[in-house]
Amino acid sequence: TGPSGVTGLRALFPVLSQHIQGHPLAYLDNAATTQMPQPVLDALQHFERHDRANIHRGVHALSQRATDAYDAARAELKRFVGAGAEHELVFTSGTTESLNLVAHGLSAHAGGGKPLQPGDEIIVSGLEHHANLLPWQRTARESGAVLRILLPDAEGHLHAEDLARLLSPRTRVFAVTACANATGERPPVAELLALARQAGALTVLDAAQVAAHAVPDISALPCDFLVFSGHKMYGPMGTGALVGTRNALEQLAPLRLGGDMVEWVSFTDASFAALPARLEAGTPNVGGAIGMAAAAKFIDAVGRSAIDQHLHALRHQAVQGLAALPGLRVLSPDTQDTAIVSFVTEGVHPHDIGTLLDGQGVAVRTGHHCAQPLLEHLGCGPTTRASFALYNTPEEVERLVAGVAKALELLR
Ligand code: PMP
Repeated sequence: TGPSGVTGLRALFPVLSQHIQGHPLAYLDNAATTQMPQPVLDALQHFERHDRANIHRGVHALSQRATDAYDAARAELKRFVGAGAEHELVFTSGTTESLNLVAHGLSAHAGGGKPLQPGDEIIVSGLEHHANLLPWQRTARESGAVLRILLPDAEGHLHAEDLARLLSPRTRVFAVTACANATGERPPVAELLALARQAGALTVLDAAQVAAHAVPDISALPCDFLVFSGHKMYGPMGTGALVGTRNALEQLAPLRLGGDMVEWVSFTDASFAALPARLEAGTPNVGGAIGMAAAAKFIDAVGRSAIDQHLHALRHQAVQGLAALPGLRVLSPDTQDTAIVSFVTEGVHPHDIGTLLDGQGVAVRTGHHCAQPLLEHLGCGPTTRASFALYNTPEEVERLVAGVAKALELLR
């Protein structure tokens, strides 16, 4: 499938065939949330209409079908990220919950491992979404561990030498994103994770921004915890996963306690079930898990490399067009393999650009993108961000560039 073949799939996304303020919708906010194709909508509807029942607890036919479908969804998503026999996948409500589960799970008692202690060290990259920073801030405060930040250089790049300087025998955790949502930067994660693991740290990879095209293979990476969201990979909102080695997952204390995660319970005590149930208390989002697995199947049916190629071409086109505009700075302009273009404009507020673009049917996101410390570190403040998915077209990128050019003219 070439690029044109990929955009041919646009017809599978019902939400895209609408007009906004008289213009065909150009949906360029895919780093926030992607749209769902018909096969995913069908999988969701099929579950809700035919198989909906609570899992595990029932002997009746629907409960068994729901349980089977939930288990099959887990198996499909494990396959999607290359999980082997040594790995397990825990369903969550998204990347945010997955990261909270890891950060809380390593500091609370009742995990299988030694909780974080005063003087232990946590290293988090400076490129992170708040979801991969705030949970570590709290964990550090509550456990007495020290939080260190692996800062990027002035261009927003992370360097292995800087990580090597920060690592110590007390480093227990290193957390980094596979792609910075605010800039599109793709740090050298294989190298960084390997250094951290050599130093004895547990490694956490935030794959939220790559799960739709450059899906990490957990078996090929020195990665203990991999996290991502369904709604950024053509799946339902409120779905996500935490994949990890069984060893690492067993060190986590559960974030939630309740039904379905216990072996036995007395009035005063309980013992927890084995993975993955131990970390999935309560009735899960069964339909969501099924929809998320359908999204993984959809991505692979289209082809990861075909999607990747298409996204690079769009990003390249956008960078070329935007960087030529006066007083406009594109962040991480040379980054390969990214679907995000984020930029700042001299003397013009991103919010005003976003509003004018919306008036032409072009949907982008503006602001700090939940990465305020990074944008302040880079000295740029809020940005305008366009982000692409497989259904976007070169014509939409042209409309973006022309729309920004016009907005700058009007606003300066
Ligand atoms: N990490 C990254 C890199 C993200 O882009 C996002 C979403 N913008 C998150 C974490 C949080 O994901 P969610 O809102 O789906 O929990």
